[in-house]
Amino acid sequence: MTEIRAWGLSEVGVTRTHNEDYFEIDPRRRLFLVADGMGGHSHGEVASRTAVQAVREYLEDRLAPVESTEGPTGTEAQALLLRSAIHTAHEEVLCAIRQDGTLTGMGTTLVALLVCGESVAVAHVGDSRAYRLRQQRLDLLTEDHTWVHEQVMAGFLSEEQARVHPLKNVVTRALGSEGDIQVDVREVPVEAGDRFLLCSDGLTTMMRDAEIAETLATGESLQDVCRELVQGAKSRGGFDDVTVVVVEVEA
Ligand code: CA
Repeated sequence: MTEIRAWGLSEVGVTRTHNEDYFEIDPRRRLFLVADGMGGHSHGEVASRTAVQAVREYLEDRLAPVESTEGPTGTEAQALLLRSAIHTAHEEVLCAIRQDGTLTGMGTTLVALLVCGESVAVAHVGDSRAYRLRQQRLDLLTEDHTWVHEQVMAGFLSEEQARVHPLKNVVTRALGSEGDIQVDVREVPVEAGDRFLLCSDGLTTMMRDAEIAETLATGESLQDVCRELVQGAKSRGGFDDVTVVVVEVEA
């Protein structure tokens, strides 16, 4: 069985009073989650925490811990479970809104990574991202569900224009938005030495992929990597909350 190590760090944006991001590391189920909440007052916090806890609880009941041989195995089965967990999380956020009208308008992104033996399942909704660093090469594993990304895909904006566009924060999918939610799930092969990064847009709006790759590749410990990424975002302005989770597959 592959050995996995992970670390996470989340800090409030420099111009903000509370952190609306939320992350969780569940080493027994090899589950890693980052969510970036939105909504007035402190409701973004409620949305991100509700979604992360809903996914964890859903999988806790259905996914055997790593030391057990029971439960579904194989990436495909686990990816299906992860997808169901995120749909459940969407329902939980909607349910919280129905129970308390003051929460209307809250929502959250979510990116999840589940290690399943020789591969990982990556699932997301919104603009929180997953990356894989392998041999100095950084690959983005998720596609932002944002208006500016759609414009880039359609050829109306360049990547650089999208980076600085006033509407760059507009997400086209979020947990807690009305109606059904479409969850992107993919399976990604794993090799010893791979480092995975889950992050909120507080990191990626401040640091370019090349800077993220350099930090991921050169950081001694995972704690160092997380600290350097968060400090990197904050030293470049860091007005938004920034959250990073780094997962390493041991060589
Ligand atoms: Ca954010």
